[in-house]
Amino acid sequence: MSDLYIVNGSVIDGTGAAPRAESVLVENGRIVALGQAADATAAARQPLRRLDAAGATVMPGLIDGHTHVSFDEPNSNDELFFHRRHALAAIVAARNAKRILQSGVTGIMDADSIFELGIDLRDAIEAGIVDGPRISSGAYALWTSVGGTAGRLIPDHGVMGYGKVVAGRDQIVSEVRRQIKAGADWIKVHVTGLVPRHPLRGEVKSWSLDELKCVCDTAHELGIPVLGHVRGGDSIRDCVAAGMDLILHATLMDETALEAVVGSRTPIMPVFTFQANLADFGGTVGADPMVMEMFRREIADSATMLRRAYDAGVPLLCGSESGFSITPYGEWHYRELEVFVRDLGLSPLQAIQCATQANAFALRMSGQVGELLPGRLADLIVVAGDPSKDVAVLGDRTRLKHVFVAGREVDLTPDLPRGDPPGWRVSTYGARLDQAVARGLSAARRPATPEHEP
Ligand SMILES: [Zn+2]
Repeated sequence: MSDLYIVNGSVIDGTGAAPRAESVLVENGRIVALGQAADATAAARQPLRRLDAAGATVMPGLIDGHTHVSFDEPNSNDELFFHRRHALAAIVAARNAKRILQSGVTGIMDADSIFELGIDLRDAIEAGIVDGPRISSGAYALWTSVGGTAGRLIPDHGVMGYGKVVAGRDQIVSEVRRQIKAGADWIKVHVTGLVPRHPLRGEVKSWSLDELKCVCDTAHELGIPVLGHVRGGDSIRDCVAAGMDLILHATLMDETALEAVVGSRTPIMPVFTFQANLADFGGTVGADPMVMEMFRREIADSATMLRRAYDAGVPLLCGSESGFSITPYGEWHYRELEVFVRDLGLSPLQAIQCATQANAFALRMSGQVGELLPGRLADLIVVAGDPSKDVAVLGDRTRLKHVFVAGREVDLTPDLPRGDPPGWRVSTYGARLDQAVARGLSAARRPATPEHEP
């Protein structure tokens, strides 16, 4: 592992502190000194690789707390559930992991995956077999037979796509233990789901408090944390009462749910990027204007409560939902920071802290990564410009100059564009062809959104 001395850069350390002009010294994969201490030590340790970061910012690599590295950008659950193959999915996921890393993301949490391949991908990356970010991986998401957000595509028993249906205490206990034996870093529960006859109610709680407690107690006994996909006040309250460790989404929080998360300080990861992308750019991919408006409203309606939680000391974590056609790999990992600034009113430095220091929690590596401080692992990026003024700098690939994982430099040369394996995408004849469309009297409308938000 080559040692590294970065000079003339502006350092953002991930703790929320203002940028400062400092050198950074890396030895054996770790940050060993900053500023004058780095300069003094480096002077005594020639030769070293010296990297001039003039005009650039040196900061912790981004951590994306919510990706789906195994999904390969489907635009429907149909495609994801029925058009994927085990071995091919793993090979494709390895390519996508590299794309994520090459965009400056040095760590991801991948909470559920098809074929549970996130676990194997994590192990392959840790063994140096393929290139990718650090991964903390879940296995199958747990559903009750009500299901999650994929409605009737979810069976009454067994596995479908990225999830597994469990019924009753015995199945919950044995499945949680099986996942932990298989190597899961997290257990994920789909706490809320859609009831087909009540679409206007949105997602409703599909687990009892006792069932949620059973998941959490079983996992915690084995030292593994639990996260939940959760929308709505009653489900947030139950998750807190059950001892859940991380709450995804947490939209539609009411006053008592806010009180509960403030009391427990349970971290929240809103994951707005998918909704924000559709709300802001859906028109360019043929999304339904009604869906775009719905997502815009979900962000606006949730922003105040999430901001209040943050102000009361609840950690907010950044996750992008990368892995769908609306959120392709390597493109939008920075976008959640932009939403945090624009819609939650965080400062850019606060948003960066959420995506670095705070997000180390999602990686289960708090105090080891996500901070540019002596003793931390040298997961670093060097970006031209100043993300403390505008976080969009972090999404501009032309500005990303260097990426390091534990001090090892990542090759940023993009792969050649490649096509899709046969049968991989849901093939269609095209949009609905009625006579008016055929005669050019009305525009064809092709739904470009998944059936439901993830
Ligand atoms: Zn997701």
